[in-house]
Amino acid sequence: MRMGFLGTAAAISTATRDNTALVFKTKDLILIDCPGNVCGKLKSMGFDPMNVNHVVITHGHVDHIYGLSSLVEMLRLMGRKEELKIYVGEDFVEMVKGIIRLFRLLDHQEAFPVVIEPIPYRPGYNVELNGAVVSFMPVKHTLRNLAVRLEYEGISVTYSSDTEPLEELGDFSRGSKALIHEATRSYRLNGPLSGHSCAGDAGKIAKRAGVEMLYLVHIGDFDEHELSTLIEEAAEHFEGQIIIPNDLEVVEL
Ligand SMILES: [Zn+2]
Ligand SMILES: [Zn+2]
Repeated sequence: MRMGFLGTAAAISTATRDNTALVFKTKDLILIDCPGNVCGKLKSMGFDPMNVNHVVITHGHVDHIYGLSSLVEMLRLMGRKEELKIYVGEDFVEMVKGIIRLFRLLDHQEAFPVVIEPIPYRPGYNVELNGAVVSFMPVKHTLRNLAVRLEYEGISVTYSSDTEPLEELGDFSRGSKALIHEATRSYRLNGPLSGHSCAGDAGKIAKRAGVEMLYLVHIGDFDEHELSTLIEEAAEHFEGQIIIPNDLEVVEL
């Protein structure tokens, strides 16, 4: 399965990293979270934005949702006619509707249908998206939030979204090839932050999950030369491969 990192930063962009979002290539494209310039980033990675049929919004913090308006508008301008489905934690359904209404995106005669599907905060709730199974687990953040596990053609990947370290996430990710875990902080560089994890926590969860690979994303506002410290911190707990992907990197799992 092909997976692309549209961005890898936490809420503050750096010179080289933008807010975290992921794309999975299945029969179509599944976008997980929606910060800015999704169309441009998809094109840079060799994906056709018109193939995005499903968008999953984990929670309503601005770095995970603000680009939805321009994504919908750009798809319309590119001539999209097919329905777009947006799956969102049920606390943020009104926020998604509000963003779309605010910019009057669906008032155009030629607007395509946008369907909003609420995701309940129930462990193991899952949806089938054109051959891919996406399951959800509530995590512990400053707002209600969901981790996402995606399975397609026998390969599974789990994404923590924003969360404090949660042992249950290790159990939820068990059997996944890769865990993509947030590392907003570092015990060595700046210490824990409520609602988020340090790189060392991500390592512990990856060990519990027994995955092959740990991708650290939602990286705090560190200098690039400090990132090796995050890898070392995670490696104290996890013996598998630990990667801090670059923005716009595409990997085959
Ligand atoms: Zn965030
Ligand atoms: Zn958040």
